[in-house]
Amino acid sequence: MASPGTSRKHQIPDINMSNVANVLAVQAGLLDTFYVETDLICPRSPFFETARTRRWRSGRKQRPIYLPHVKPATFSAYLMLLQELQFRIPDEAGEAFPHLAHIYFLADKVGDLISTNLVIDQFISLVKETALVPNSTCVDLIYGNTVPSSPLRHLIVDYMVFDADEDCLNDESAHDFPPLFLRDIILGQRRLRDEWARSSDNALFWTGPAKKARLEKCYYHQHSAQFPACATAAEIMDVQEDGLVDAEENKMNDRCRIV
Ligand SMILES: [Zn+2]
Repeated sequence: MASPGTSRKHQIPDINMSNVANVLAVQAGLLDTFYVETDLICPRSPFFETARTRRWRSGRKQRPIYLPHVKPATFSAYLMLLQELQFRIPDEAGEAFPHLAHIYFLADKVGDLISTNLVIDQFISLVKETALVPNSTCVDLIYGNTVPSSPLRHLIVDYMVFDADEDCLNDESAHDFPPLFLRDIILGQRRLRDEWARSSDNALFWTGPAKKARLEKCYYHQHSAQFPACATAAEIMDVQEDGLVDAEENKMNDRCRIV
């Protein structure tokens, strides 16, 4: 631990510090400064690209970019995702969900849509693997750090609408969830009812988050002109064909419990 008033410096492996124009200093939290190559962090993030350009123009290239509300561990995990395209998440799902959520908030803040989408995919994998869904503390965290249109909110609401065990919303636990989340569950169930009325294919009607993501890979993703959809139309068609079979087989299976 650094003592008060001292700072910690982190230099990611293999970084070339000889050319400072290619290095960005980012201070996460109050003490930890990370030195990151611009080639790694700028291409996927309009936030970091703008910050780099401003520092270059002002001649203050070494001035850190301050992210006071981002935990150093979160920034470190984000860098690992950029470098290796993989996560190192805690073994306990109760810790893994908030860990992923914090990476999502950071990626969202800096406009890195690819990383937000990777977090969504990891979230879906984790629920599938553990049959657990985020608890009220994690839901509260997500609702406190995202906007109403956030795909991460959409995803956790869909888990409650499609997959969650009734115990997830028992008399005791229902008091702990944010009211907006409970409202979104009601709206989600109304949408489900309307879709049921319109649907000519009841097998697809019961498609929950994991299968929605298989039927249409980018269902919970964010994309833009710079970062277009993940899969080609042909790849999506392949997944759709597989997904249709599963949707029929698993209409009401795979109930989830809360963490
Ligand atoms: Zn996508």
